[in-house]
Parts: sequence; structure tokens; C-alpha cells
Amino acid sequence: MRIDTLLAQKQPFLSLEFFPPKERTQWPGFFDVARQLKSLNPLFCSVTYGAGGSTQHNTLEIVTRMKQEYGLEPLAHLTCVGASATRIRSFLDGLSEGGVRNVLALRGDPPRGTDIFTPDSDEFQYGSDLVAFIHRTYPDLCIGVAGYPEKHPQAVSMEEDLRHLKAKVDAGAHFIITQLFFDNDFYFSFVERTRAVGITVPIVPGILPVQNVPALQRMLSFCGASVPADYLRDLEHAQARYGDSGVRGLGLGYAKAQIANLLDHGAPGVHLYTLNKADTCLEIWKEFSRRITGA
Ligand SMILES: Cc1cc2nc3c(=O)[nH]c(=O)nc-3n(C[C@H](O)[C@H](O)[C@H](O)COP(=O)(O)OP(=O)(O)OC[C@H]3O[C@@H](n4cnc5c(N)ncnc54)[C@H](O)[C@@H]3O)c2cc1C
Repeated sequence: MRIDTLLAQKQPFLSLEFFPPKERTQWPGFFDVARQLKSLNPLFCSVTYGAGGSTQHNTLEIVTRMKQEYGLEPLAHLTCVGASATRIRSFLDGLSEGGVRNVLALRGDPPRGTDIFTPDSDEFQYGSDLVAFIHRTYPDLCIGVAGYPEKHPQAVSMEEDLRHLKAKVDAGAHFIITQLFFDNDFYFSFVERTRAVGITVPIVPGILPVQNVPALQRMLSFCGASVPADYLRDLEHAQARYGDSGVRGLGLGYAKAQIANLLDHGAPGVHLYTLNKADTCLEIWKEFSRRITGA
């Protein structure tokens, strides 16, 4: 089913993001996590698209299996990295054949260690180019795009970033998923500013329950999100004193408080960055299952 249809029917909801495991030997464990998390009634499950090209065909296979074997509603990520019309068509044909109706259209990140994204083709330079192509050639697909409550790291200003976000929506995007954030005021202010520039599609907040500090630092180094100083200090203290288990407890409590506040103040639902781990998501579900509808 299309996610825009689901979004219109069921709020509030949880949705989940996964990444394709690098090795085939990790697939049974991956699908076991997906099976466990089906109990959360996720509205949809998104699967990332490997930046360097290594796991791209895995995205297609995983979303197809999620749909056909696990009855989950998948959202396949797709980027402009290495894109050509032929390659994008082949991916989208694969989605259609697998019964997958939803795609998250992204530009992709610059290679590690640089701030400059060099497009592989003139046709696909920005997320908006991919959205326009998909909308034109596969009008039955539902298209999501990324939004940045703290501004995209390469954008000159929030105003400019919002103009580019509006271009993605005007090109045919049906909903927005945000970059992770740790201060809900960024999300609320972002929603207000997007509405002010005429963007009316649903904006789903992306929440990361922190699992360990080195992984968090790696993500922060390229995603442009900030961590409140007190929270970061507590996380670092927990990591040094108790290791990952201490960080997980803290991250879970913080994420639960963020989610409660988001739902209290009208967020349509929450997209959880699962890091392919079931336990934290199951704990979150225990707390919010009464409030959340799901598919
Ligand atoms: C929810 C979510 C999921 C993600 N999943 C993946 C994934 O699966 N795989 C992956 O590799 N990456 C993923 N990313 C990361 C994403 O690829 C990067 O954040 C990337 O740097 C930007 O992608 P975008 O589609 O938002 O880019 P765009 O919307 O193209 O924007 C990129 C930058 O260019 C600017 N810009 C846009 N249009 C123009 C224009 N016409 N002229 C000048 N400047 C312009 C924007 O302001 C912004 O600074 C994800 C990000 C999010 C938030």
C-alpha cells in the first residue's frame, strides 16, 4: 500500500529504518529482527541504500522479501550516487515487480572526508532530480524525501534549504522524513517554517535511540545533527563507566521522553532509526503501544 494513503488513515504510528547487512551470513539474523519488530505494527519499514554501491542490490532484495515473506510495508531508499536513467529504471522496475509501492528519493552523501558531492550524471544532481524522474516515469509510486530540522550540513542557510525542500515536494514528493535530532524544538520549529513556505505534506520525525557513543559520533560527523551538551556529557560518562549497556539505558530513556513529547504536541508518528536492533524498539513499543495505531 502507498505510504501517503497509510499516513492519511493511521496516526500516530511508529515506522522503522533498517540498513542492509554487509554479509549474506548476517541475513538470517537481520530477518529475525524484522520478524520480531513486526509486533510493533510499524506503519512502514524503510531500508537504506548503500552509499558506496556495495549493498544497493541488497536493498531491492530485502524490501521485496519484507513485503512478500513478512507482510511488512517497505520503503526502499534510493540515491543519485552512481545513478543513470537506465540504472534507476531497473531499480524501480524491480520494486514494481516485487509489489513495493514506496521509495525515498535522496541525493546521497559526499564520500567520507570531503564536503563536496560530485554527481555521477547531469540528470541526477539533487534529490529533486530523482523525485521528478520517479514522478514522471513511475507515477504510481509514492515518494518520500529527507528534511533537515537543523539544516542540511552543506546548505548555506535554512531559508535556502527550505527552498530546496519545497522543490522536492513540488516535483512530486508525498511526505518527508527528518534527519535525526535530539532537541524537539528543532522539529517543531522546522515544521512551522516548512508550513510557512507552503509545504503541506506530512513530516515524520526521525528518532535515534543512542546505542553507543562511538557509533553516535560517526553519525554526527556527517549528518549535521547536534546533541545537547548535558546529554552528550551523560552519554560519554555512561560509556566510560558502564559501556554500551549503560549508554543503551540512557539512550532509551531519552528517546522515550522525546517520543512522548512529539506525540503530545501533534507529530503524526515517529520513525525509529533501529540500527537493526530489536530490543530498544521493543521497549519503546511497550511504552507507547496504547497510543500508537500502526498498520
Ligand atoms: C531520512 C534519511 C534517510 C537517508 N537515507 C540514506 C540512504 O539510504 N543512503 C544514503 O546514501 N544516504 C541517506 N541519507 C543521507 C542523504 O543522502 C544525505 O543527507 C545527503 O547529503 C542529502 O540528501 P538529500 O536527498 O536530502 O539531498 P538534496 O535535497 O539534494 O540536498 C542536498 C544539498 O543540496 C542543496 N540543494 C538541493 N537542491 C539544490 C539546487 N537545485 N541547487 C543548489 N543546491 C541545492 C540542499 O539545500 C542541500 O544542502 C538519508 C538521510 C535522511 C535524512
